[in-house]
Amino acid sequence: MGLLDRAGARLTARPEEAEILVVNTCSFIDTAKQESVDTILEMARLKTEGRASKLIVAGCLVERYRDEIRKNIPEVDAVVGTGELESILEAAGIAQAPKASSLFNILTTVAPAEMRSGQESLAGTHKAPAGHLAEPSNEPAISFRAEGDLREQQGRFTRESWDGAAHMLPTYLYDETTPRLLATGKTSAYIKIAEGCDHPCTFCVIPNLRGKFRSRRFESVVAEAQSLVARGVQEITLIGQDTTCYGEDLGLKDGLALLLDELAKIEGLRWLRFLYAYPNRITGKLLETIAKHENICKYLDVPLQHASPAVLKTMKRGAGADIFLKTLDKVRAAVPGIALRTSFIVGFPGETADDVKVLEDFVKAAKFDWLGVFSYSHEEGSAAYSLDGQVAKRTIEARRRKLMKLQQGLSKEVKQQWIGRELVILAEGESEETPLLWEGRTEFHAPEIDGKVYINDFGDLDGLEAGRFYRAEITEAHDYDVVARVIAGPL
Ligand code: SF4
Repeated sequence: MGLLDRAGARLTARPEEAEILVVNTCSFIDTAKQESVDTILEMARLKTEGRASKLIVAGCLVERYRDEIRKNIPEVDAVVGTGELESILEAAGIAQAPKASSLFNILTTVAPAEMRSGQESLAGTHKAPAGHLAEPSNEPAISFRAEGDLREQQGRFTRESWDGAAHMLPTYLYDETTPRLLATGKTSAYIKIAEGCDHPCTFCVIPNLRGKFRSRRFESVVAEAQSLVARGVQEITLIGQDTTCYGEDLGLKDGLALLLDELAKIEGLRWLRFLYAYPNRITGKLLETIAKHENICKYLDVPLQHASPAVLKTMKRGAGADIFLKTLDKVRAAVPGIALRTSFIVGFPGETADDVKVLEDFVKAAKFDWLGVFSYSHEEGSAAYSLDGQVAKRTIEARRRKLMKLQQGLSKEVKQQWIGRELVILAEGESEETPLLWEGRTEFHAPEIDGKVYINDFGDLDGLEAGRFYRAEITEAHDYDVVARVIAGPL
């Protein structure tokens, strides 16, 4: 969006008004592929009937079905994979813009003087030349982890079974000079700190789609965060397929902890969090860092995928319920009051009723604040695709529903303990359900993913302002959501 905007395109969220339609796709599981294809077909219809003259398909579906899309949906004019973002301009028929930046080119702030003066970089081969942090550097030298190189030799990233997929894996990484348009309001923003994944999880094709793990330069992430905060952003969520590997390819030990430590010092940054920790990479140093800074949210999303050692072994993730419970104890001891989120897959090939029982017992013992359950999706190109013991779809659904029901009861108990607590809340706007209620989040809720805080009492205030923080008291608890009364603010 940033590249298009800088090149002079004006963006609209109303496809019927657009001359160029761009569908950004996902393709890691069946439901995501279906949603992507449905949207492409809907936009193809709009192109035929409406004013649009171009339809571009971008993202992960392109990495997987590049030729298929072109062959089967003739309305599509161009495809743009995840490793060729800049070609969106050519696809759109828009020439690269002159240097002047537009209103929306938000990342123009240069890094602090000490970073530009040639200070020793923490970023190894990803280092930009001194004095050039504000210059475009779209093709930095990329280094990979030894683990990634080994996995590549073992065929982890192969796309051979995917008809029509390009052979080359993406190596693209954006940096702090890449124009970027915030689509998440003025208060909250995501920063991708790394791309790709080297883990061997047998159900997962994300490494085949996204390529080998590679971290963005340390200074680039810091400079982007500083620019965002200078523009009024107060909540930053760091993302990546596995953020806990951050910096390993740059030669950093505890890279994520170092990065959080640096970012937490940015004045005006009220909430900082990261998503997707790999369970065996939650180090003492990382937990110490979360505990140390008031503005690092006491929140950890650690997808565990299962709890039965037998299933985890076939998933090539290892560990099991006992080890996970020890990890969770360690996390809770180091960061008291931390909110924990996880997700599981049910119906993995070979999963038995006993495995599901192990998982249910684990969920009861672990008492997660937030939990998601995915149905196993049978993906061509994954190592699990050739496994015997496929579980019937009906059984998978029944297992998923049962686990969610179990969590519903546990979540209700956990949320009851919130009543009476005074917390800082980010007001997000009127509730979609009724204008009488507002919706918000605490530091224990990641954007868009966890339950909600409904605000039904504004205290002494006439109204609330979206994107502002307030102090509030939790007055009621439901299965996943809580209700709050504003006490003071905006803060
Ligand atoms: S760590 Fe996550 S992204 Fe990487 S292979 Fe495993 S499930 Fe996929």
